[in-house]
Amino acid sequence: MPLTLPNLPYALNALEPHIDARTMEIHSQKHHAAYVTNANNALAGTPWADKAPEEIIASLAALPEDKRAAVRNNAGGHVNHALFWSVMAPPAHGGGGAPAGALAEAIAKAFGSFDSFKAQFADAAVKRFGSGWAWLVVKNKALAIVSTANQDNPLMGEAVAGSGVSGTPVLGLDVWEHAYYLTYQNRRADYIAAWWGVVHWAEVARRFQAAMG
Ligand code: MN
Repeated sequence: MPLTLPNLPYALNALEPHIDARTMEIHSQKHHAAYVTNANNALAGTPWADKAPEEIIASLAALPEDKRAAVRNNAGGHVNHALFWSVMAPPAHGGGGAPAGALAEAIAKAFGSFDSFKAQFADAAVKRFGSGWAWLVVKNKALAIVSTANQDNPLMGEAVAGSGVSGTPVLGLDVWEHAYYLTYQNRRADYIAAWWGVVHWAEVARRFQAAMG
């Protein structure tokens, strides 16, 4: 089955004022849709066409060389955005606040405190030059912060995504300008500060438990 564009689990305007409806519309229905279409075009007719997208991006070296760049960018873009939509929620439906339980304990252990984690994550997101992502990953049964360029994902591994970049993402933040430019223009730090208000910690915790096994 080809990759499919997921429906957003909330209305386009549900994340306002943190993220505006027009940005959500273009981002999901134009940018993400294009990644899905282009990934399917690249994978069509190969044995990879029916595999899970996470498996595909973790296996780029096994893909035919002439497909590799298109799959890296577009299947990567699909996996990244599907996660991104899922780890946000309107404040009235669980967005914002702070994590609880085992995830909160793991964050405190890895980063000292929740506030320190937020500062370190925001720093990684602000310092990602150009287009890319900041990630909270589970690596060796512990949490770590990494960032990637373009549509790379930590699942691609160090050989693709860069030295030290590996693990299973449980939270991701898109810092491409298309994610924030309409409301925040060049003020990426303001977008990041506002984004904390819609992070869906219950979904991050679910992904954390799954990644910890
Ligand atoms: Mn994006």
